Amino acid sequence: MALDDTLWFTENPTADGSTFSLKITGKLHEEQTPFQKIEVYGTEGFGNLMVIDGYIMLTARDNYLYHEMLAHPVLFTHPNPKRVLIIGGGDCGTLREVLRHPEVAQVQQVDIDAGVTRAAERFFPELCESNNDPRAELHFADGIQWVQEATPGSYDVIIVDSTDPVGPAIGLFSEPFFRDCHRALGDDGIIVQQSESPLLNMQILTDMHKAMRGAGYADVQTLHFPQPVYPSGWWTCTMAAKHAFKGFRIADAVAKPFPTRYYSAEVHQGALALPPFMKEAFAKIAG
Ligand code: SAM
Repeated sequence: MALDDTLWFTENPTADGSTFSLKITGKLHEEQTPFQKIEVYGTEGFGNLMVIDGYIMLTARDNYLYHEMLAHPVLFTHPNPKRVLIIGGGDCGTLREVLRHPEVAQVQQVDIDAGVTRAAERFFPELCESNNDPRAELHFADGIQWVQEATPGSYDVIIVDSTDPVGPAIGLFSEPFFRDCHRALGDDGIIVQQSESPLLNMQILTDMHKAMRGAGYADVQTLHFPQPVYPSGWWTCTMAAKHAFKGFRIADAVAKPFPTRYYSAEVHQGALALPPFMKEAFAKIAG
C-alpha cells in the first residue's frame, strides 16, 4: 500500500530499507540554499516538521529528547562550563538548552547555513526564544574551518549538532576535525557529538570512537536515548575528553534550576549504561 504523498511525508529510506512517515497537513516552506534543501511541513500529530535534503531534522513534538540529551549531560559532566561552541544546531534548540545553565558565560553557534535558522525563527519560534540572550552569538560559517582557526584552549565544551555524515557535514566526523577541536578545548574541555543510531549505524559509532581516540582524547563515552522520528527511534551522542571521565556533577544535575521534560540526573546515569554489544565494541577500541 503506497502512502499518498499529498497526505504523508516519507523520509529518504535508510540503507537497511527502513523509513519513517508523518501524516502532513501541508507544506509550509521550501528553499534550496547554497548548501542544502530545506522543507517545513505541518503535521497532524507532531506539530511542524523540518526536513533537510530529504532527512527529518526535528518535529515540534519530540525535539526536546534530542536537544536536552545533546546539551545537559556534557554540561553537567564538565566541572565549570563557561565558554561553549555549538557547531551546526541551526534550529537553535540546542542553544536554548545550553543557555539554561546560569554558569555558561558565552555560547557561539556556528552553522554553515543561515537558511536553517531563518526557517526555525518562522516555524519553530519556541526553539529560538533564547536567541537574543546577551551570552549568545550566532555565526554562519563552516564549523570545520571555524575550529581550524580557533584560539587554542578557547572553549570548555564543544557541541556538534550536525546533520548525518553527508554533504557539508562529512568532515565533522573526521579525525582531523576532532584534532582541531582538541586544540580549541581547554585542558578539562569536552566535545559531544550526535552519533546516530546504535541499531543502524554502529560503524559510524565505532569509527567515531576510533577517530576521537586517534585525535588524542583520553576517554570517550556514548549515551543513548529515544528519538522517535530518527531512523530506528534509538539515538546516541558521544562525549570525548582530554582526561578520564570521573562521573558527572550529580548534585548539580539533581538541583538543576531549570525545567526539562526528558533529562534528569537518573536519566543521565541510565543513558551511560550501554547494552553489551555497544560496551564490547567500544572497549575493544579503547584497548
Ligand atoms: N538534529 C539534527 C540531526 O541529528 O540530524 C541536526 C539538526 S541541525 C538542523 C543540523 C545542522 O548542521 C544544519 O543546520 C546544517 O546546516 C549544519 N551543518 C552541516 N554541516 C555543517 C558544517 N560543516 N558546519 C556548520 N554547520 C553544518
